[in-house]
This record gives sequence, structure tokens and C-alpha cells, in this order.
Amino acid sequence: MRIGYGFDSHEFREGIPLKIGGIALAYDKGLGGHSDGDVLLHAITDALLGAVAAPDIGALFPPSDPKWKDADSVIFLREALIRVHDAGYGVANIDASLILAEPKIGPHAAAIRVRVAKLLGVRADCVGLKAKTPEGLNLQNAAVAHVVVLLEKHPTKARKKITKRKQS
Ligand code: MG
Repeated sequence: MRIGYGFDSHEFREGIPLKIGGIALAYDKGLGGHSDGDVLLHAITDALLGAVAAPDIGALFPPSDPKWKDADSVIFLREALIRVHDAGYGVANIDASLILAEPKIGPHAAAIRVRVAKLLGVRADCVGLKAKTPEGLNLQNAAVAHVVVLLEKHPTKARKKITKRKQS
């Protein structure tokens, strides 16, 4: 087994779409960044990469490379999953904490968990998601994500799911 940990933060900006966990949320601000700013997928990606001691998201997809401008963060997650598979592991479960003042995540939590589970090739009950407001942290205009992931030796199972996703 392997454990991985990922952290990310992004600042809210006016007039851009908000994506968290691969889901578009209706809100008047989005998360700035070179890619689509999906703070949760970035933290999951780094947790997966960290679990197999691979280079981190910034090293694999440098913000200085124009290729990743406005990129769908699912691309980063898929690369991390391929590296997990190549190392001989599959995802057992993940647990995530989001910290943001707004918008409320509760009404979207189920959809985010289902989406993330699908991306990872696990059941939705293998994706934990909590959302907290930044009490006392003075982070009213930012979103933060912390993620831990557990990997287990399931190369055959993982390979099937990843191959299937790549073909679709
Ligand atoms: Mg990021």
C-alpha cells in the first residue's frame, strides 16, 4: 500500500467559470490559474503523484508552458493515474477537505463525489469530501483543497479501467 497527500489553493476571480472536482458550479467568480483552476483535481493529482514518488503537477505541467493555458484539469489527473498504474497500483480510496467561504459545496457534494469517483475508476463511497468555511483564516477570496489517497496493489483492475477511459 501507498499513501499520498496533495494540497492546492487558488484565488477567486470575477468573470471566469468555476470548476471544482470536474464539475461546473454556477457562481459569479471562478478560480484563477493557468489551467481551469480546478483546485480539487489539482490536489488529487498531486496526492496520486506523491503516492508513487513521481514529479509533482507543477513539474509535469508547468504554468510557464502555454500548452496548459485553460487546460481541463482532467488531463492532469489522467496522467497521474497512468503513473499510478505504471507503478503497479490502483486507487483504494481518497479523502478530501475543501476550505472556502463561498459557494456552498453541500448541494454539489454528491455530484462532485460521483464525478471524481468516475475519473478515478472507484465507487463513489471510496471518495470522501468535506467542505469547511475558512473560520479565522482570512481566506475569503480563495479556495483550498487537502487530499489524501490510499493506493493498493491492484494492477490488473486499474489497467482495465484506465484503458477503457482512454479509448472513450
Ligand atoms: Mg492548482
